[in-house]
Amino acid sequence: MLLSLLVVACVHHIPDPGAAAAGAVDPEPSATSDVTVCWLEFATGSLPHGTAVAHGALHKNVDSTQSGLLFKSSLGNWLVDGGQAADVKAELKDVKGLAGLFIHQAAAGWTVEATPAQALLRAGVAAGQLTGVIPTHAHFDHLGGLLDLGVPVLLPQAEIDLAQAVVAGSGFGVLPREAAALLPRAKPLAWTGGPVLYWDRSYDLYGDGTVVLFPLPGHTPGSLGVRVRVPSRPGTELLLVGDTVWVREGYEQREPKGWLAAGFDADGDVNDSQIAKLWQLHQARPDLHILPAHDRRAWAEAFGVPGC
Ligand SMILES: [Zn+2]
Repeated sequence: MLLSLLVVACVHHIPDPGAAAAGAVDPEPSATSDVTVCWLEFATGSLPHGTAVAHGALHKNVDSTQSGLLFKSSLGNWLVDGGQAADVKAELKDVKGLAGLFIHQAAAGWTVEATPAQALLRAGVAAGQLTGVIPTHAHFDHLGGLLDLGVPVLLPQAEIDLAQAVVAGSGFGVLPREAAALLPRAKPLAWTGGPVLYWDRSYDLYGDGTVVLFPLPGHTPGSLGVRVRVPSRPGTELLLVGDTVWVREGYEQREPKGWLAAGFDADGDVNDSQIAKLWQLHQARPDLHILPAHDRRAWAEAFGVPGC
């Protein structure tokens, strides 16, 4: 981790995405859908701008969030991201060292708005009515709350491999207790679909083009993104990008993360290439709401307030 932090401290540019990433935007689906899209918010906080982006203002804080997307449909209810676990303090007791210090600090300071079960009930869904849950990646502030719900977890094999390495004592990035809880209920996600936006593989959750998952590695090996066409608001598209960027300035200004934030990326070069694609997409499609998982400003702009 320390070496990683020192290396990324020297990297302060995002590569030009070039022509290779300039793929065509896929066409609108013709299928009708009964999917309802909801913003569930589990915790709120404040994020130093200078940590989130390399050239951010040190004196400025931005509103941050731990949030999830709930999809309700007759074809199944799914929750993407669940914030941190209710007993995150207990889970962190066995995380030591410099990484542990940062994670302890990252876990503290959040104001809890609702547990995932409470937020789901407000949206009209009991935890037992979920088909499953999907983390954008297996870090504690996305996976922990999902594990509290006790339902199957759909995620890419690369992220399952990461959890298995942690359980075997040869990896890090997933809290050990969460890795152990995840593996018995993990279901590998197969990338059976074709290109979506600038990414070459996908998984269509409902088979109607409404909710399409795609691999977005870099922050972790099995990070994923979610492209959502909101059926109740034709023409409205969301792109949840997990922690590929922490704030929207990352894709608006092709700005790398600050050195501390970048220290949590498993592969900084790959993550930078993803930021470059997001920047290019934002240039081509400024109407598309790109949602960094923790930038509350972006969520509020897309939804107004939490709810369905
Ligand atoms: Zn996060």
